[in-house]
Amino acid sequence: MFELNSLNSDERELEKIYVRQLESVLFSINQSVQDKVSEITTGLERNMNSMSDDMLLEDLSSYNFFEGVYLTGLDTPFQSFLSEDRGVDAFANKADSIFKANTSVVSRLRCYKEGGGFMKIENGASPLYQNGDELEYFFFVVDEGEDIKFSIYFFEAILMIEQYLVPKFQEIARDDFVLSCLRTSDNFLVYSTAENLAVNYESEPIDLFPRYEIGIDGAGGTVEEAINRRKNQSLLALALLMVVMIMGITLVLRNVQQEMKLAQKKADFVSNVSHEIRTPLALIKMFAETLLMGRVKTEEKKKEYYGIITKEVSRLTNMINRILSFSKIEASKRTYDKRQLDRNTVVADVFNTYSYHLENNGFRCELKTSDEKLIINADQEAVIEVLVNLIDNAMKYSLDSKQVIIETGLKGQNAFLAVSDQGMGIPKNQQDKLFEKFYRVPNGDVHDTKSSGLGLTIVQHIMDAHEGEVEVQSNLDKGSTFKLFFPLYKHEDA
Ligand code: ADP
Repeated sequence: MFELNSLNSDERELEKIYVRQLESVLFSINQSVQDKVSEITTGLERNMNSMSDDMLLEDLSSYNFFEGVYLTGLDTPFQSFLSEDRGVDAFANKADSIFKANTSVVSRLRCYKEGGGFMKIENGASPLYQNGDELEYFFFVVDEGEDIKFSIYFFEAILMIEQYLVPKFQEIARDDFVLSCLRTSDNFLVYSTAENLAVNYESEPIDLFPRYEIGIDGAGGTVEEAINRRKNQSLLALALLMVVMIMGITLVLRNVQQEMKLAQKKADFVSNVSHEIRTPLALIKMFAETLLMGRVKTEEKKKEYYGIITKEVSRLTNMINRILSFSKIEASKRTYDKRQLDRNTVVADVFNTYSYHLENNGFRCELKTSDEKLIINADQEAVIEVLVNLIDNAMKYSLDSKQVIIETGLKGQNAFLAVSDQGMGIPKNQQDKLFEKFYRVPNGDVHDTKSSGLGLTIVQHIMDAHEGEVEVQSNLDKGSTFKLFFPLYKHEDA
């Protein structure tokens, strides 16, 4: 912003320098016209004595813009009018009346000449119309020795401009400037170095024929335009930088937020897991000690205690297995021994093992296998792990309606197996987060159950490793179905 502001003062300085430069270019052009005209008038003064009128006229007519020259003696009677014009007499009369109407100019120019020998050239006030042409003219005084003569030189301005100014314009303009000449009376563009007339930055009339104006402009636009362009570019860059910065900050904030959430989940996980481990250990210790001390009298009670110990041990084993499995996955060390597998057989095996456990916990369970023998390319241990995780969840998240249905089938090119329950269900807005590490649906009831937030993360990883997919269908308070799709075994898998 400082950089942009500081441009304003520099801009003013630059602008001043630029305008002065343009003015000096215009001045030098004006001066060159003056020099050319001086050449003509001094030539005339020099040749007047030595040349006859005819020779003088011939010499003057070598300039294509020359129209006529009027000469009159100021002290001795002399009058001459040299011109190749058709109506030369009428032209001479007009010149004579111009002379008579400009007595003040006559005496002024005479003063200059007599005072310091300086031949001043002065422009005529308004154009002269001769044979339909608009002629410009200028006055000067010649001193040919014994007599001073007043002279009026008539010429066609446009032709003079073409001869003297156009080459000068082209020499100066190049690629840096646009130079143009305009007749101000009717805005007629006499010449321009550019195709169209740019709005002139600086302009001034030609000293010797002020009805014509020369104008100049920088080819690349004004200083202000150049600075505005740069300003806009800088502003755009600044805006882009801001956008990138805002995006960067948002990204960092999001990352920090995610990290914080993950840290929170990890902390929850550690406290859950320690609780989950401590509870079965305490139970095992208590029942084992009771048995060891021989305090249990009846065989029936002993059996019940052994049963509790075995159940708690398997709960512990499950928990530890899950943690080990997850840490292997995290360390990218988990490998899969994929083989041809009859999916129905695997599912039936798991069902047989678990149905007792399910029924023992008050669940009604059912297995619906499709008739076709579907072979998948999978690691048997992994498929069992996935299925056990889903059955475990179905049990954990069922309330009063205790039912688990395991189903197999074929959908397109994929063999599927589904585990459905009639449990608490999962809100729609939570369903896509289930598979995140340590994620647990925030619900007071859920946290009462044994939970680590790892089960579905492991399921997702195993399914990814088998190029399979997991689909969740769940309605709150009605139940959930987790469907696993495995691609069928192909010969290339061998
Ligand atoms: P957890 O060890 O907490 O069960 P999971 O990754 O297996 O971890 O499950 C993540 C969360 O998804 C669970 O905390 C639970 O809120 C929800 N969830 C998983 N399966 C079910 C289900 N069958 N019914 C209802 N909610 C479920």
